[in-house]
Amino acid sequence: MISVEEALERIKQHAKPRAAHAIRASDALGSVLAVDVQSDIDSPPHDKALMDGYAVVASDIVPGVELSILEEVTAGDVPTKPVTSGTATRIMTGAPIPEGADAVVMVERTELVGEDSTTVRIDTDNSQPGQNIMPRGESVRCGDVVLRIGSMIRPIEMGVLAECGATEISAYPKPSVAILSTGNELVAAETRPKAGQIRNSNGPMLEALVQRAGNAAVNLGVGRDDRDELERLVRRGLDEDVLVLSGGVSAGVLDLVPEVLAANGVEQVFHKVHLKPGKPVWFGIRKDPEGDKLVFGLPGNPVGSLVCFELFVRPALAGLAGQEFSGIERRTARLATHHSRYGDRPTYFPARLFDRDGQFQVEPLAWKGSADLRTLADANCLALFPPRDSEFDAGEAIEVYLL
Ligand code: AMP
Ligand code: MG
Repeated sequence: MISVEEALERIKQHAKPRAAHAIRASDALGSVLAVDVQSDIDSPPHDKALMDGYAVVASDIVPGVELSILEEVTAGDVPTKPVTSGTATRIMTGAPIPEGADAVVMVERTELVGEDSTTVRIDTDNSQPGQNIMPRGESVRCGDVVLRIGSMIRPIEMGVLAECGATEISAYPKPSVAILSTGNELVAAETRPKAGQIRNSNGPMLEALVQRAGNAAVNLGVGRDDRDELERLVRRGLDEDVLVLSGGVSAGVLDLVPEVLAANGVEQVFHKVHLKPGKPVWFGIRKDPEGDKLVFGLPGNPVGSLVCFELFVRPALAGLAGQEFSGIERRTARLATHHSRYGDRPTYFPARLFDRDGQFQVEPLAWKGSADLRTLADANCLALFPPRDSEFDAGEAIEVYLL
């Protein structure tokens, strides 16, 4: 049986980005850029006022100086009169600085004088050239590379793309993911299970995990443990970039998933990984000229399914989309309580991470095993207990995976 690290290494070799395609910037959130993006303008496009106030000649400013007001310029307007010594233009934040002016005095340091308010008195000792002005192109110059190839488009980058006029970009496509829950015992949530039946919890959970990761999910529902039915659904699933199955990969007489996949051209890369829960996990690929299809057979037990999704499927989806091949965020925390379960497999144990006096502490929950999804709902992390033959003491440092 291979280790988690070895399994990840093998998945990584098949999780390479597909050919880039052109997309509208408005659809780019969560995608990775496949080209450098350049700006088509200077930003700001003009020397701009950073304060509401008066555009002045800085060398005019001495306490109590009075300047005659030429005009008022608001953001979106263009000044029409040059500012010369002895004059000022009333200006608002964002508006272009008039020719001749080289500083803005904030309105709070001024007072209108005279009957018709055509003169302003300045109540500040001095003003430096450039004060309260952002020069044209200070943030971005026309032609500058503003975002580099490989950048992930977050909301911030959506703003930068808009600022710089990039309405269409080249990005790596995000893989689409088919989800297939297998098992004769499964019924949908709206059905009250009859004798021997359980509700399909993996289907909705895996679909949500895929969507949360920013990928399109195609939920194929439940497949019976029947070769023909599984074959039909697996073929449909292989239309997508990734197929994620749950159940049918252990050693039961109706665990038909590996053989049905093999019969449909999916080559096994590994079956079974040294971890708990999730040991039966299966991974394979189907060769395709447009990019190999990745197929994950996750264990039927819901907690095993979740753990294997987070450990193996998530980084694969990231790698296929041109992102760094990485899974959920990890950190180190101190065990808040003694932990007496131990075993020969690394165990990803539902737990709660919390902050006590600035230090991360983690408390394992009263988890009843891989079929106990309910306790996982109280967890905000998985605590990784490495295999060993002694117990874990309170205060020991262990690694946790944030859910
Ligand atoms: P299997 O790997 O198919 O033998 O399934 C292992 C266990 O997980 C069995 O107890 C199944 O009933 C349960 N199981 C399988 N699929 C699901 C599912 N989609 N939702 C909830 N439990 C499941
Ligand atoms: Mg089954």
